[in-house]
Amino acid sequence: MTYYNEHTVLYLNGGFVRAAEATMDYYSQSLHYGYSVFEGIRSYKTINGETKIFKAKEHYDRLQQSAEAMNMPYTWSAEELIVATYELLKRNKLQDAYIRPLVYAPANMNFVQNKESFLVIEAWEMQPFLGEKLLRVMSSSFQRPNPKGFRITAKAGGHYVNSILASQEAKANGFDEALLSDMNGFIAEGPGANVFYEKEGKLFTPSLGNILPGITRATVFEICEELNIPVEEKSITTEELKQADAVFFCGTAAEVIGWESLDNVKFPKPWNDSVSKTIQNFYKDKVIEKENKPTLELA
Ligand code: PMP
Repeated sequence: MTYYNEHTVLYLNGGFVRAAEATMDYYSQSLHYGYSVFEGIRSYKTINGETKIFKAKEHYDRLQQSAEAMNMPYTWSAEELIVATYELLKRNKLQDAYIRPLVYAPANMNFVQNKESFLVIEAWEMQPFLGEKLLRVMSSSFQRPNPKGFRITAKAGGHYVNSILASQEAKANGFDEALLSDMNGFIAEGPGANVFYEKEGKLFTPSLGNILPGITRATVFEICEELNIPVEEKSITTEELKQADAVFFCGTAAEVIGWESLDNVKFPKPWNDSVSKTIQNFYKDKVIEKENKPTLELA
């Protein structure tokens, strides 16, 4: 994967600079200790051909909340960063893009709080979602970080060491992705996505508390409301999940993506007949601003 070339620009501390020429301090506390916060945002070419950042305000608000949870100074407004991001997309001629804002710390080998933070925004091309391949998921031997040890509602760099370990373990074992439990053994989330399961037309998802409160997760709740699909948050065991009709991951990058199996136990409902598939279709339409009428009520 190539993230940039000689023409790519990024947004760095208030200005636009060529990615190939941008530098950072090797003594940064972020590099040494994973002490940074970031976002993962998508822009799409809408049905009208415009470039639209999906849920831009929600993502930049979460970036600020993450920085505050980590005691990192944060001096930017969502509004100014949204303007900068549209300009970044324009300068890089991007429409279907993945956008990565990152707030990082100055040189500091101690653990004391800093007086300033830095902000970079990078963006790269994202291929429009085509694949319908269902995921083969493995129950990870890794648990998500203990909320008493980390501020897990923050999207902080260091938390992703856990994601990397879990994802690499799943791939080394021949699976597509991992599913992690929380410190009590209940289902939590994937390395970079939230999870929902479907049973008899109703959706279930882990409650907040041990997971990242996903913006896509919130969008799935919105879609359920629009379509009158019942959805419940609760503690879920692995055994319960294996009894599901269908399961999906959702996240900004993953969008809504169905599962074939968990630990090689296949889910019985054909994906195309599932309520989950309807949610996936609605999500795909929502991000490109395509009007969609609820059809479930007519069925
Ligand atoms: N959980 C984790 C651990 C994640 O990294 C992500 C991706 N940001 C999600 C859930 C989904 O969050 P969102 O829908 O806001 O992208």
